[in-house]
Amino acid sequence: MKISTNKLSHLQPEQLNAWATEAINRSKSGQIPAYIPLLAQADRQVFAVQIRAIDGQILSWGSTAQTFPLMSVVKPFVLLYLLCTLGEKAVFDCVGCDPSEMPFNSLTQLEIDQGKPRNPMLNSGAIALASLLPGKNAVERCQNLQTWLNQQVNSQLFVDELMLDSVNAMPNQNNWDLALEMVQSGYLQNSAIALETYNRLCCLSGTVDDLAKLGMVLVNGGEAIAEHCRTVKALMATCGLYEASARLALRVGIPAKSGVSGAMLSVIPGEGAIVSYSPPLNKEGNSVGGLFLLEQISKALRLSVFD
Ligand code: GLU
Repeated sequence: MKISTNKLSHLQPEQLNAWATEAINRSKSGQIPAYIPLLAQADRQVFAVQIRAIDGQILSWGSTAQTFPLMSVVKPFVLLYLLCTLGEKAVFDCVGCDPSEMPFNSLTQLEIDQGKPRNPMLNSGAIALASLLPGKNAVERCQNLQTWLNQQVNSQLFVDELMLDSVNAMPNQNNWDLALEMVQSGYLQNSAIALETYNRLCCLSGTVDDLAKLGMVLVNGGEAIAEHCRTVKALMATCGLYEASARLALRVGIPAKSGVSGAMLSVIPGEGAIVSYSPPLNKEGNSVGGLFLLEQISKALRLSVFD
């Protein structure tokens, strides 16, 4: 029998079961954010994970049929799409590529940077990039990204309209303030359409299977987009978990992106993708259970990119 050299495919179901059970236990210390009413109703106990190895092995655990909104986990894919369609110059004329020590929605950070979003993983950066998507309105722009992504890997991403209604029911003043600051500084033309697009993008939803398939694009998307995938992974590693990114580079050493829904995508170059969904968050807005699980897997299999 040929033994795979793919470290990720050596993970045993019993081991995953033990860690996932402990992750649910630890997630009790987390909070579910209240600012999106429907998100606030999420089941605290729900947990789903899928691990996809580059050699084709797939290991799943928990509520794998559960769909959830990507929220900020969509940001790496907005970035990838725009790098592939508009190129690096257009993207980085609009957003920076440096990490931030401030929270994901910080207006102070944007003001310090004279209205240029510090990186594409922050709300400011994603709102600015939403304005670059092709399409005459928010629906078309989001649809273009959705179609492109689903065609890449045969995933079933869809816009959760009920979640979108819930997002729109409580207008996010903070995101408006970010958009207005960018309009004033000339980094954004039309704040209304950018925010409407951004909100729709955040409501793109799917299962851990959909998200893991998409994560594999970043791992082995092919020669034609390899350079852009490298850029996205580097930005996930330095900025993906917001102000916790540097700490996570030491503890985990894997490019990752979290979302306020409790979704988390991690991509391990040359190895595969790990996706988890567990709603309770820590104070930095990252999934408590997802982070715990990722750290265990990374340490046990020596997956840190710095190993
Ligand atoms: N829609 C959310 C917001 O803009 C997404 C943030 C997140 O997932 O971290 O606040």
